[in-house]
Amino acid sequence: MEKENKKYSVLLYYCYSKIENVEQFREEHHRLCLDLNLRGRIIVAQEGLNGTVSGLKEDCERYMNLIHTDPRFAKTDFKVDHVDRMAFQKLNVRVKAEIVHSSLAYLKPYERTGIHLEPQEFKQMKDQEDVVILDVRSNYEHTVGKFKNAVTLNIDNFREFPDKIKELEKYKDKKVLTYCTGGIKCEKASAFLLENGFENVYQLHGGIIKYGMEAGGEDFEGKCYVFDNRVVIDVNQVNPSIISKCYVCGTTSDRMVNCANAACNIHVPLCEECGWKMDGACSDACKAHPEKRPYNGSGYYAKQLNGYNPVKGLKRI
Ligand SMILES: [Zn+2]
Ligand SMILES: [Zn+2]
Repeated sequence: MEKENKKYSVLLYYCYSKIENVEQFREEHHRLCLDLNLRGRIIVAQEGLNGTVSGLKEDCERYMNLIHTDPRFAKTDFKVDHVDRMAFQKLNVRVKAEIVHSSLAYLKPYERTGIHLEPQEFKQMKDQEDVVILDVRSNYEHTVGKFKNAVTLNIDNFREFPDKIKELEKYKDKKVLTYCTGGIKCEKASAFLLENGFENVYQLHGGIIKYGMEAGGEDFEGKCYVFDNRVVIDVNQVNPSIISKCYVCGTTSDRMVNCANAACNIHVPLCEECGWKMDGACSDACKAHPEKRPYNGSGYYAKQLNGYNPVKGLKRI
C-alpha cells in the first residue's frame, strides 16, 4: 500500500521554548490530545515540549496546526510518517525536569547549541576530511543502524553521554557533526561539546528520520530504532545494508526485538529462525524465566493496559 493512502500518522517532534506554567499546560495539552484521539508519549518541561504521537491522519494534521499557531511552538519541526494502524496504545502527557533525560538540565539549547544542518547540508559535509560524525545515541540504537564511518559511544543511556567527553577530546580540532533519531538529543549534546571547548559543532536537524525522508538516507547503514510498535524503520533508499548480527546465532539480521523475558527486555537483533526457536528470548535462561511473555513473532510487547484510563491525571473532567 502506498504510504500516502495509509489512514494513520506517527509524529515525532520537539521544541525548546520556555513554558511558564507547566502543570496548567500539561492539563490543557492532555485534554487537547484526548479530543483528537491521539495516543503516544508527550513530555512537558519548563524548557519545552517533546512528543511522539499517533492518530488518524486528519487528527494529526489538526494537532500540528494547533501547535504551530502557538507562538512558543511556531517553529516546531514535525517528522511525519504514515502507518496503517495506531503506533501506540496509550496516551501519556507528563511533566518532567527536562524534555529529554540527559543529566544536562542546566544547558539551554534555546540560548546556545550546535549549528543546525538540514539533511542536504549534512549529506554534503559528512565526507569532508576535517569532519567527524558523532552518533550520540545508545548501544541498542547504533547496533542496528548508524552512519557509515560514524563514531559511536559505549553507553546504555543518553545520561551517560557527558562521561564520554574524555574519549572525544581527540576530535576537538575537527568539525563535529552530531546526529540522533529525531534531533533532540543533539540539542543538548552539541551544547555540551561547545561548553567543553569544541569550536566547530554541528547537528543534524530533524535527525536520522528527517535525513531519510529528505535526503534519501544515503550512507545510513542498517535501520533506525524507534520508540513505538514498529521497533525499527528503514531509512536508506539509496544504498541500504545490514550491519547487525543475530544475538543468538550470529547471522546477519536487522530484526530488532525486545527479549520476551520481561525481567530482561534487552533490545537485540534476533533472526526470524532464532525468534521462533528461542520463543522470543535472548538466551536459554530467559526462555525458561517465569516472567517470559508469549512470543507472537514481532518482539514488541505492549505494556499491560489493565486499569489504563486515558483521562487519568486530568484535574477537571
Ligand atoms: Zn539467529
Ligand atoms: Zn533476555
